[in-house]
Amino acid sequence: MNKTIENQLRLCPTLPTISSVALRIIQIGRNPDIDLAEVARLLSKDPALATKTLRMANSPLYMRGRQARNLHQAVTVLGLNATVSVALSFSLSTWLRDAPAHGIDLDRYWRRALLSALAARLLGEHQDIHVPEELFLAGLLQDLGMLALDAVMPETYGQLKHIVHNHDPLPAYERELVGTDHCEAGAWLMEEWGLPDYLVLATRGSDDLSRIEVPEGLESFVGCVAVSGRIAEIYLVEDTQSATAAAVQTARSCLNMGPDALSDVLSRMGETLPEVESLFDMTVLSPPQALGLTDQARELLATRNLQLLRSATELQEREQEFRRQAHRLDYIARQDALTGIFNRRHFDEAFSKLFAQARAEAYPLSLAYLDLDHFKEINDRYGHPIGDKILAAIAKRIHDQLRADDLFARYGGEEFVLLLPGIDKTGAQKILVRICNGISALEHKLEDGNTLTVTLSAGIATFPGQGIHSPNELMQASDHALYEAKQGGRNRVVLADVAVKPSTKGRIDRPL
Ligand code: GH3
Ligand code: MG
Ligand code: MG
Repeated sequence: MNKTIENQLRLCPTLPTISSVALRIIQIGRNPDIDLAEVARLLSKDPALATKTLRMANSPLYMRGRQARNLHQAVTVLGLNATVSVALSFSLSTWLRDAPAHGIDLDRYWRRALLSALAARLLGEHQDIHVPEELFLAGLLQDLGMLALDAVMPETYGQLKHIVHNHDPLPAYERELVGTDHCEAGAWLMEEWGLPDYLVLATRGSDDLSRIEVPEGLESFVGCVAVSGRIAEIYLVEDTQSATAAAVQTARSCLNMGPDALSDVLSRMGETLPEVESLFDMTVLSPPQALGLTDQARELLATRNLQLLRSATELQEREQEFRRQAHRLDYIARQDALTGIFNRRHFDEAFSKLFAQARAEAYPLSLAYLDLDHFKEINDRYGHPIGDKILAAIAKRIHDQLRADDLFARYGGEEFVLLLPGIDKTGAQKILVRICNGISALEHKLEDGNTLTVTLSAGIATFPGQGIHSPNELMQASDHALYEAKQGGRNRVVLADVAVKPSTKGRIDRPL
């Protein structure tokens, strides 16, 4: 996974957490000789978890004939893996209930998690893989990465909610928008928690099995998890037909499972869902909705012509639409909402590329750092909305004067950066003085009919220049020149020239 995101995840204080008791159970669960009495003792330290475990052990989903009256019996009934599964799923559901403000739809997230968990378990039964609890847990946790990405960048990630309405294209959008997808992020978090490798692998391959290498013997396990998500979608999206078609296709490609077998699994979903809902205190679907959908899905499957729904042309159209959307989304992610010019994220990415290009092709590259003067006063006097309008007007005025090769971006607040490829010091000076003149002459009309003007200060640095060997150094030099411009009285342009003493720095007062 991308190192920057990994670091952000590592430092993120709002990442999903699970209780220390659950973590401890995972750890001891790795030891095959573990004494179940010790697990029961551990569980008793978390009363809510203990109660839940007892309830689960006595639910029809788990019960193996006799009623568990105490924790030790519950752990024995469930077995170690199921106990770990219960501890984790319960812990996570508790975390979700008190989760901090999020960009994603938590309710949908949790409904999908429970539906996938149940589907994975039932698919496993059908495939004769006798690890129902592990499959339930793997299905439940497969989208954990969505919570992780959302915790690190709630605003950016939250945008996806408005653009992507089903789960299928989500990972591709995520990679466009945040540089990684939830399968990777989830697998990373699960590794951090020390969860077993098969869970990590199932998460990594949950949306696209072809992206991972599956060790022999685990194909059916990860396949069940990949199909489980598609089954969950049938119950969550408006376009049930397409979702069912996608499930049929994935079941065939990942598990070599035909529509009839899938139809069986779907009807079992309808029967067992109420039990899961009750265990997790959550309504995933209203009972008539669940029944209706199951019937509908079965009917659809029975036609056996579903593959036709995804005819070649339809697929092509979808792909084109997806590309258009991805392009739009990429543009939105690089645009500053207030001014419409590029944002810092785009600038930082493009800057290092343009710097490398200037170095390789040996042409000059000038960078101007711009900061509006006394802008706080403007806000204080006329209000923030007027300040916003002025900021946008200034950005537009500057933008309109630039060449196509120039890169102009809002770097933050009332600060802008302007990168001028092929422009040397003297050229940059002229351009910036012209810009400063234009801005200070720009009259901003107020509602009462009065006008006001705003000035700006700019610091310029140029590559090649002494002490400037990297984008960072170019940035620092222009920032330093900007500081000099402010110190010198504002409303002016200052050239960085680290080779000369500060007193002889090339300051150019803007001609008034
Ligand atoms: P200086 O000349 O030293 O740059 O003074 P200043 O007041 O511009 O500098 P300072 O950095 O202290 O304050 C910047 C102000 O810019 C603070 C904030 O109110 C304003 N500002 C930053 N972003 C926005 C924005 O998006 N909209 C509005 N209206 N104001 C903003
Ligand atoms: Mg500032
Ligand atoms: Mg300022």
